[in-house]
Amino acid sequence: MLTIPGLCWLCQMPLACAHWGICSRCSYALPAPPPCCPRCGLPCAYRHSPCGRCLQEPPAWDSMLFVTDYCLPLNRLVQRFKFNATVALAPALARLMLLRVLDAKRQPLWQKPDCMVSVPLHSRRAWRRGFNQSDLLANCLARWLQCDYFPKGIRRIRAGQSQHQLNARMRRNNLKGAFRVDFPVAGRHIIIVDDVVTTGSTVAEIARLLKKQGAATIQVWCLCRTL
Ligand SMILES: [Zn+2]
Ligand SMILES: [Zn+2]
Repeated sequence: MLTIPGLCWLCQMPLACAHWGICSRCSYALPAPPPCCPRCGLPCAYRHSPCGRCLQEPPAWDSMLFVTDYCLPLNRLVQRFKFNATVALAPALARLMLLRVLDAKRQPLWQKPDCMVSVPLHSRRAWRRGFNQSDLLANCLARWLQCDYFPKGIRRIRAGQSQHQLNARMRRNNLKGAFRVDFPVAGRHIIIVDDVVTTGSTVAEIARLLKKQGAATIQVWCLCRTL
């Protein structure tokens, strides 16, 4: 697909604001997720109270915010963003997250964040790809929301094998000792930015580490949550 600046990444129509990247018609037409648990982000009966799973065994993070399920059309854009090194997509995708955040800010239980980190790639993979997609998203969001961002706040110190083939327990073991926290955490309200959350094992491991070091609350913000 040829991309011309000033045209919507999805419908290729001219944009009212060139820097939006995705037109308002396409943004509104994104598939709305079903009611989801505000804590784990998975479908549940009520969108304002934690689901039964979270009441029994809450995740290490406190809330999750995402734009859509990992489905069309965002999954295709995310793949282009990640694997075709289309870094110009970052502000357009981050803006969709921003709209979601502005919506969440109006909710009574909104917790104003103090700072932001992104899920790191192992340096070998980052080097091969040339960029970290979560870092690009966090960069935009932190700038727009005037929130402190620690780009190297979480370091991946061990590569671990690819998570795709592993079950939940194996994923957890694979991630043990994979990260190190490198920024002041105690008492802070922290956001972890990722592009796609599937099983949540990576953000869970990071959230566990942050909580262990005294983080007050942790929000996970991502583009897509696999439902
Ligand atoms: Zn459009
Ligand atoms: Zn839940």
